[in-house]
Order: sequence, then C-alpha cells, then structure tokens
Amino acid sequence: MYIWSDGTQPTPLLRSKTKVIPDGTEPPIWGFDGSSTNQAAGSASDVVLNPVKIVPDPIRGGNDVLVLCECLNTDMTPHESNTRAACVETAEKWADFDSWFGLEQEYTFLEDGHPYGFPKGGYPAPQGPYYCGVGSADIFGRDVVDHHSQACIEAGLDISGTNAEVMMGQWEFQIGPASPVDVADQILLARWLLYRIAEDHDVDASIHPKPIAGDWNGAGCHTNFSTKQMREEGGYDAVIAACEALGKNAAEHVANYGDGIEQRLTGHHETQRWDTFSYGVSDRGASVRIPWQVEREGKGYIEDRRPNANCDPYTVTRLIVETVCSDASQNA
Ligand code: ADP
Ligand code: MN
Ligand code: MN
Ligand code: MN
Repeated sequence: MYIWSDGTQPTPLLRSKTKVIPDGTEPPIWGFDGSSTNQAAGSASDVVLNPVKIVPDPIRGGNDVLVLCECLNTDMTPHESNTRAACVETAEKWADFDSWFGLEQEYTFLEDGHPYGFPKGGYPAPQGPYYCGVGSADIFGRDVVDHHSQACIEAGLDISGTNAEVMMGQWEFQIGPASPVDVADQILLARWLLYRIAEDHDVDASIHPKPIAGDWNGAGCHTNFSTKQMREEGGYDAVIAACEALGKNAAEHVANYGDGIEQRLTGHHETQRWDTFSYGVSDRGASVRIPWQVEREGKGYIEDRRPNANCDPYTVTRLIVETVCSDASQNA
C-alpha cells in the first residue's frame, strides 16, 4: 500500500493505492495522477512517488507492506506539496544536536458529523469524566483505539501510549521519541492506519482542531522536544534557552502549526492564546510547558502545546529544530 500526502489546501489529505509486486522485491518508485489530488494540472499530471519508509502492513498481514512516499516532480526535484524535503535538510544541518521528538496526536471520532457518543441533536454532560475515563456512559470508540494501537505496534511504529481525551469521543496516541524526520513519517503512517481502521468500524476519525464550538476542548498535537544538551546533566539552562528561543520566533511557528489555530488557541481549554507566548513549569495554560520532573532533575525536554491536531508534522519539527538549534549555536 503506497501512502502519500496530497496538495489539498489548507490541510492536505492522505492518499493511498495498491501496487502488486513480486514477493521479495523492493517497492519501486511509482506515480499517480496529480490532477486528481490538487497536485498537478491535467496537461502535466504525472507526480512521482518516491518510497521513504517501508513497514509491515498490519491490515493485510503476510508479506504486505505500507510504503510511505514523498512526492517528486518528474525531474526528481521535491514537489511543492513535499514538506519532508525541507525537514530532511534542516535535520541534517543540525544533526549534532541529536534532537528527539515525541508527538501527542489528538483526534475525534465522528459519526454522521457529530462526535461519537454525543446524543443525536444534543450534547452530553459537560467535560469532566471523559479524560482517561472508563465505562460505557463516558467512553466511545475504545475498540477502534485498541485495534489501532495494536496495528501501530505490528507496523513497528514507536507508539508509546494512548488515552481518552477531555471531550467525549476524543482520543490521543503518542509517537516517539524519535528523530525530526522519522517521528513525522511515523505520524503520517499512524494517521493513515487510524483512518483505515476506523473505516472498518463505520466511524470517521478527524484531526479537525476544533470539531465542536463552545465549551469543548479542541484537538492538538503537543510536540515534546529535546536536544542532547537539554538531556545532559545540568541541561536546564538549555531547556530555558529553548523556551526563550521559541518565544522570539512565536509568530512564525503559530502561523505554520495548522489551519484554524486561532479557533483552538483561545486562552481557554488548556491553551495559551495564539497571539501570546509564555512558558512555565507544569503550566497547561502556557504555550510551552516544562514538565515538573524536568525542573526537579535539572534536565530533560519541553512540551510545545501549540501545534494543532491537523498540523504538518514535518513543518512543526523543522521549525522547532531551526529555531532552537540556530539560537543555541549563536549563543555558544
Ligand atoms: P502529557 O502529560 O502532556 O499528556 P504524554 O505522556 O502524552 O504527555 O506525552 C509525552 C511525550 O513526550 C511522549 O510522546 C514521549 O515519548 C515524549 N518524550 C519523553 N521524553 C522525551 C524527550 N527527552 N525528548 C522528546 N520527547 C520526549
Ligand atoms: Mn498526552
Ligand atoms: Mn492530550
Ligand atoms: Mn501534552
């Protein structure tokens, strides 16, 4: 199964199609009709699929594989929809920092356009019991979530956990820690598996950042980040420097952290406002949270709470690496 990100704006969709190949052969470079995916004009429609990560296919099993691809033009340069190429370049430039990322992908199950579990034409009881809840009064979709976790494990992805979220019908899985490019590759594969498995359960999984207006949490993609320097003994100065660097470049980050970010980063529902930057220990109302263990141990990682659930993970990791590592090297 070949999988790629398309050219739909403002939020690209995942696309996939099957190629039957002889057993034991490498999935080759392939292509598709870019005029049907917002990636080309009909008169010059060929877009190239270049395999970048191949993992076991937990849906079909056996010798089948998932083939994550980047899109190239026919002259083998990156297609304009290809945000991975720039991420690879930035990751190579700052490779000495040995950056790690752990992404918390939130999402919402939708049934007939409303969150799974919401009563038809109405609302459930206010938020409170749903986060990490148990019991069929509060929890909807757990069979899908567990099926998805198992599939991620069988595909060899670095899934590190799942939990029910604050809004009914909303869930999260975490991928990482992994390198800037690999964590993003894995997020796309994990999103594809989620959509594909939800098909079998007749629900839709959505990464919309604010599926329901009003007093309901939005869906984010908290991005946990560390460099070697931050993880080392006495790394707390580097932790603070990373927060300060993110503060200096806040506008560029927010503008590229997913469509509709102003709807989600309101200053309520465990967010800081999109036009304000702050960081703090244990503070879930800040743009960037320093986990309490990090302050106590004097080293570790930070959580950028701003990225939307519908973010482009290559763009998010590229921006964080560029902002934090260029600042650290100037101050070295
Ligand atoms: P939260 O308390 O915000 O819900 P989670 O447990 O959901 O946190 O997610 C924490 C994430 O942080 C995980 O994906 C984990 O892999 C990641 N993480 C842990 N240590 C590091 C580190 N040193 N660098 C980057 N990410 C890390
Ligand atoms: Mn989490
Ligand atoms: Mn969460
Ligand atoms: Mn978090």
